[in-house]
Amino acid sequence: MSKSSDELMACLKELYLPASRGCYQELADSARREGLSYEGYLLEVMQQECQGRRQHRMERLLRESRLPVDKSLGAFDLKRLPGKVSAVVRTLMDGSFVDRKENVLVFGPPGCGKTHLLCGIGQELVRAGRTVYFRSTELLVQELLLAKRELKLPQVIKKLSRYQAVILDDLGYVQQSREEMEVLFTLLAERYERGSVLITSNLPFSKWESIFKDAMTTAAAIDRLVHHSVILELNLPSYRMEQAKKSKAGALVDDPPTAQS
Ligand code: ADP
Ligand code: MG
Repeated sequence: MSKSSDELMACLKELYLPASRGCYQELADSARREGLSYEGYLLEVMQQECQGRRQHRMERLLRESRLPVDKSLGAFDLKRLPGKVSAVVRTLMDGSFVDRKENVLVFGPPGCGKTHLLCGIGQELVRAGRTVYFRSTELLVQELLLAKRELKLPQVIKKLSRYQAVILDDLGYVQQSREEMEVLFTLLAERYERGSVLITSNLPFSKWESIFKDAMTTAAAIDRLVHHSVILELNLPSYRMEQAKKSKAGALVDDPPTAQS
């Protein structure tokens, strides 16, 4: 390697331009062949660097989000949703609801696809460069409780406020104690109009008093969540149950009972 290319490599290292280090030589060769201008060549190298950075950032955000990787929208059968709901889901995919700090509340019976749907939307948000944090409500509440006991609740809530969207999975699946309810309420109150909250729940609003313990707190929580929100009702049968039935039916068609053959 020539002295100048050694020096160039050292500069690219010092400036932390890993993609440029990897591609500058090859692009220079093709630029010479194609008679590209200096500016044209520089543009090509910088475009590679920008793309590499976007990709890295996206991968980091995806890891930090704790979103399950297999629950993507690509793996979700949108056709299973009622027409109106899938139309709304398509509008959510552009992520502008997060910029408007709107919430998304998904209701429906167990197994109908609430968690998968919100994870898929969460992944799309991250791919567009937004920050997302996914947690089961039960786990998050336990973490908030622990933080409260260690007098660190404000710091933990502040850390969560850095995420543009927080997904609380399964709100109300477990019966929360009053203390658990209080930290959950604090989180919701803190995020109100400051950042999006996306929630899945098997419980309709009429049963939320079992989560928030008294009528006033329940009304206050619902009021804050609903004020700027999109509500999706997935009144669908369990996906797994449906798949199981289908494969059973398929098995019967594929191998008819031997007694009949
Ligand atoms: P819920 O949160 O409503 O209880 P889940 O989102 O956990 O339901 O879905 C249950 C299982 O069925 C998961 O494995 C999920 O990936 C799958 N599933 C549900 N709906 C769909 C769908 N429309 N397309 C593909 N897989 C689905
Ligand atoms: Mg779920």
